[in-house]
Amino acid sequence: MALIVQKFGGTSVADIDRIRHASGHTAREIAAGNKVIVVVSAMAGVTNQLVEYCNQLSPLATVESRAHYDHVVASGEQVTSGLMALALAERGLPSRAWCGWQIPMTTDSAHSKARIEHIDVRAINESLSRGEVAVVAGFQGITAEGKISTLGRGGSDTTAVALAAAFGAERCDIYTDVDGVYTCDPRIVKKARKLDKVSYEEMLEMASLGSKVLQTRSVELAMNYHVRVQVLSSFDDKPGTFLVDEEELVEQQRVTGIAYSREEARITLVNVENRPGVSAGIFGPLADAGINVDMIVQNVTESGTQTDVTFTVAKTELARALQIVKSGEGMPRFENVHTDSGVAKISVIGVGMRSHAGIAAEMFRTLAEKNINIIVISTSEIKISVLIDEAYIELALRALHTAYGLDAVEEKMV
Ligand code: ADP
Ligand code: ASP
Ligand code: MG
Repeated sequence: MALIVQKFGGTSVADIDRIRHASGHTAREIAAGNKVIVVVSAMAGVTNQLVEYCNQLSPLATVESRAHYDHVVASGEQVTSGLMALALAERGLPSRAWCGWQIPMTTDSAHSKARIEHIDVRAINESLSRGEVAVVAGFQGITAEGKISTLGRGGSDTTAVALAAAFGAERCDIYTDVDGVYTCDPRIVKKARKLDKVSYEEMLEMASLGSKVLQTRSVELAMNYHVRVQVLSSFDDKPGTFLVDEEELVEQQRVTGIAYSREEARITLVNVENRPGVSAGIFGPLADAGINVDMIVQNVTESGTQTDVTFTVAKTELARALQIVKSGEGMPRFENVHTDSGVAKISVIGVGMRSHAGIAAEMFRTLAEKNINIIVISTSEIKISVLIDEAYIELALRALHTAYGLDAVEEKMV
């Protein structure tokens, strides 16, 4: 008898019929003799609606308002967990619904983006041994102060993988609205191809660079605790994509996947005085304010006495970053500052980059052929990212997808 964790995303539990349908996947595992922990997201659209209510009253500025935000937005998952328990009862399957605080699943107190600190396995284990399915509300936990916390958008994936790790589950199945992880977001690139396997490391890069099919933190946990994760569709019965160790990949493509993100904004400081300590002077105060800077490029002007510094921050933090840059405290002198929210970051990812040369050059050539200007470039061992004008995002993704030979081969009728 094995323990399986199943997670159902928002579209898979969007209405009562879909919840009934999802409960069929649980019934199948039970019939096969397995124990099951089910993790559910809020019904599709519910979290967005709850966030919108909060924003009408208070943007996420203070710690106190973030705690209240969590109290509101965590409620969506509570509803679904109860409904799923009712759907299981309809099938004659005993279950118990759990909120994060009832487990308890404790987190730090970084409200709206909390991290799981501990999962008490005792109560759920007792319930499982009574033959009940545990139906857990995803995305939520409880802080040491006894306040409800949430794990950041998409956080139910993390709940599921964390539970799989804590309970030593044989597998963690992430049921969603696509039948696996694709070479690129299939909603944008129609020729995207489903991957049978993807390495933890590549998936981690893809997720953190914008492929929201899995929350980044869930991939990190899966990698650290060797959780066998499968991403699959709740609407058909085909096998999905497995996260695996790199050694398990039989052939390494040059590029495995392409990700994009519309969530960054560019800031350029023009004619900054060029002296030692300038970068520390700019990025120190931003770091102190908890603002994450992603891409950075610095150009020295012809005279060498001045430099232009361009960098990106999350769009949601642009106003705050600008305020810090302009406030002058510890900042080097500069003549002007420009910002642009109409940018997008495109990244090509693949462990094959370690052994293949020329992948960056091919990316730049492909974008040049489409007349797409590159604003900033950043690289790591297994990824290359470029910042471009947001208007060209789809064109760039499709062109790169074809250039790296990722397009699905159309099945020909004979
Ligand atoms: P859920 O509500 O089930 O958690 P999400 O919307 O969070 O579902 O994630 C699934 C979506 O992720 C897909 O509908 C797809 O548009 C998007 N996505 C982005 N990049 C990829 C990718 N590389 N492979 C598959 N899906 C992707
Ligand atoms: N319901 C939450 C969200 O929409 C968590 C999740 O779906 O994973 O972000
Ligand atoms: Mg999701």
